Amino acid sequence: MFDKVLIANRGEIACRIIQACRELKIGTVAVYSEADRDALHVRLADEAVCIGSAPNRDSYLNAANILSAAVITGADAIHPGYGNLSEDYNLADACQECKLKFIGPPKEVMRQMGDKAEARRTVRGAGVPVVPGSDNGVKDVRAAREIAEALGYPIMIKASLGGGGRGIRVVHNPEALSPSLEQARMEARSAFGSGEVYLEKYLANPRHIEVQILADEHGHTIHLGERECSIQYRHQKLIEESPSVAVNPRLRTRLGEAAVKAVESVGYRNAGTVEFLLDSRGHFYFIEMNTRIQVEHPVTEMLTGVDLVAWQLRIAAGERLDLEQGQIWFNGHALECRILAADGERNFVPSPGAITRWEVPSGPGIRVDSGVTCGSVVSTHYDPMVAKVICWAPDRPRAIARMEAALANMRIGGIRTNIPYHLRILGNAYFRRGELDTHFLERHGAVMEGG
Ligand code: ADP
Repeated sequence: MFDKVLIANRGEIACRIIQACRELKIGTVAVYSEADRDALHVRLADEAVCIGSAPNRDSYLNAANILSAAVITGADAIHPGYGNLSEDYNLADACQECKLKFIGPPKEVMRQMGDKAEARRTVRGAGVPVVPGSDNGVKDVRAAREIAEALGYPIMIKASLGGGGRGIRVVHNPEALSPSLEQARMEARSAFGSGEVYLEKYLANPRHIEVQILADEHGHTIHLGERECSIQYRHQKLIEESPSVAVNPRLRTRLGEAAVKAVESVGYRNAGTVEFLLDSRGHFYFIEMNTRIQVEHPVTEMLTGVDLVAWQLRIAAGERLDLEQGQIWFNGHALECRILAADGERNFVPSPGAITRWEVPSGPGIRVDSGVTCGSVVSTHYDPMVAKVICWAPDRPRAIARMEAALANMRIGGIRTNIPYHLRILGNAYFRRGELDTHFLERHGAVMEGG
């Protein structure tokens, strides 16, 4: 096992990784920006190194400073968390140069799956269904027009190197294609450093269903079932749950097999997630693979009892995954609500500031992962998520009831949050019946807004 791991992240995921390291008796090094001097992850870690000023690009995205911090402190490995540099091929590459283990898949797999157009081609070659679309990045408007005609409108334009819902445009008719292509390219260039985009058929009202996988370095891969993440605000997940009401045991097996096939076809290692869209007829289509731990991983942990972050560390250290597919049980139901420092009543405008009150719920089946506490300052420089509340119960209605009670018992002062918004979703009759798709919030917006 490693002696010391540097955590190249902040917030709740840094705290989560520190907890896993401590359980495995691994020393921890936190990194922090000047704005995060007093942050919780800095206080929890054994050592901490300042890696730059407040803006993300100067600190948490500054690979050179992060690597220097690892070398100076004598860390053996870097855990990148999610977001930030977690899917950065160059960091994985530089880790190898510096004889540091990057806790994630092999760098070549990161590169291959990080290019969403290439990922589509690769998994399709392995026999996994993908959303119909272009095989490569589109060259120009003319090429885009031809592909769009063949697919039939509406279509979706996506950035090849995209993520986090950015660089995505839905195009409903030929007239809108050219300006949308231009906008998507511009957004992609500024966000991801490449203006390459590809096209996909825009599926009507799909569910977002993803499969968690674990693969060790000895060729053993298992899946840990699905998570449904259809409750999205502008293509960003807000509530996740498992199991999905739309997935029966037979479909779960097929999804799991497809996910395992996709990752085995590229020699994947460590934890990862294969994302699919599921249509109303029960057909599923690959959209992308995330080569890292995901925000919503606790949902799977609550359901299966498998500690995914501990396994990331153990797999990276060369341990064998001693779990067989048949040993994975899906017990009960789990839901996660992402608590954002954003005003749910006013289009989720950010609500930065000092937290003056922080009382979180506890009790059977309740887990709160957060990176803040009373006195913490929520800065506009970073992601607005301040906590994740995860509730488990023997069935979905009871998990929802537990979540409602847990959120009602949460007392946060000094910042506005989306807790009231979450409570309205949880109380919505369609939500309670499990009638979900990725347009849920748009469709029920009138019910949701203003209370
Ligand atoms: P990102 O990597 O930016 O998160 P994804 O490819 O994962 O982008 O898509 C994000 C969300 O956009 C999906 O969960 C889904 O709601 C929607 N989406 C993506 N592709 C399609 C599609 N072809 N048809 C309909 N909706 C889509």
